Amino acid sequence: MTGIVYKSTGSWYTVRTEDGNIYECRIKGKFRIKGIKSTNPVAVGDHVDFKLESNNDRHTGIIEKIHDRQNYIIRKSVNLSKQTHIIASNIDVVFLLVTLNNPVTFTSFIDRFLVTTEAYDIKAILLFNKIDTYNEDELLEIKYLAALYRKIGYECIGISAKTGKNIDKVKEAMQDKVCMFSGHSGVGKSTLINTIAPDLSLKTAQISDQHQQGQHTTTFAEMFDLSFGSKIIDTPGIKGFGVVDMDKEELGDYFPEFFALKSNCKFNNCLHINEPKCAVKEALDNGEIAWSRYKSYLQILEGDEASYRKNNYDE
Ligand code: GDP
Ligand code: ZN
Repeated sequence: MTGIVYKSTGSWYTVRTEDGNIYECRIKGKFRIKGIKSTNPVAVGDHVDFKLESNNDRHTGIIEKIHDRQNYIIRKSVNLSKQTHIIASNIDVVFLLVTLNNPVTFTSFIDRFLVTTEAYDIKAILLFNKIDTYNEDELLEIKYLAALYRKIGYECIGISAKTGKNIDKVKEAMQDKVCMFSGHSGVGKSTLINTIAPDLSLKTAQISDQHQQGQHTTTFAEMFDLSFGSKIIDTPGIKGFGVVDMDKEELGDYFPEFFALKSNCKFNNCLHINEPKCAVKEALDNGEIAWSRYKSYLQILEGDEASYRKNNYDE
């Protein structure tokens, strides 16, 4: 039988088949996926083959195979050195909620986030939330930012989770997809999910509460089906969007507008800093590449730890 992992609580995995039946599954023995050393071999979002256990009246099964993952996001354990935990897999789209104030979302944060989604190979959509609260100047700034990111290729939607403005567009983008929502604390993630799927937000709230009770409770991702044919992966307690290790030379590849020009740089390992005949610097000079993007690039390249922490872990 084949199904999707909706939840994992350590040794048991909740698997849902296409006909809607739910099975509690385990893995037996050593079960390793080539190339990934992780604390959990199976993750929420995985497509798995499993067989039913004998004398089965409890709907339990043994996972025998994990289908190739389209992508997956990881977290490095703080306590155990360099242990990798796979948070979720097979994500179709991640929505980043952005607000100009209450809280402020800096472009450096947006850019770091987009580098991560590019590296993970996950489609990202920017949602500029709380547009009901902005004055004319602020709306102009949103317009500017949306144009900036659209030009690079990212879909941008101005929304109000509170009034429901453009929520239909968000739902359209979510249709038949496995979705995640991210953004600083206070940008309106819970409000948005509540507007999109009122019955679901109840469930996620309950889960989040449970997780706050004990300090030692590990947080687990969980997938939920929405009535209009999309799935949400909720990751209570997980801040930021995981980490990606990369070489300096690789970073520019995750800025799509830099990557598009790379072959025009004189040196094929060009870091776009001081090299002669750099197509990226030229595009920067003539305004085709935004300064804020280039600044973010330099910041990440220089491994500015302090600003990294500020932008990613200030929730
Ligand atoms: P989360 O931490 O990302 O889940 O943010 P919440 O959903 O808890 O929202 C934080 C605050 O912002 C709450 O007081 C919400 O009522 C408010 N909020 C969220 N979305 C909007 C919006 O579109 N417009 C306005 N005016 N307030 C919003
Ligand atoms: Zn260059």
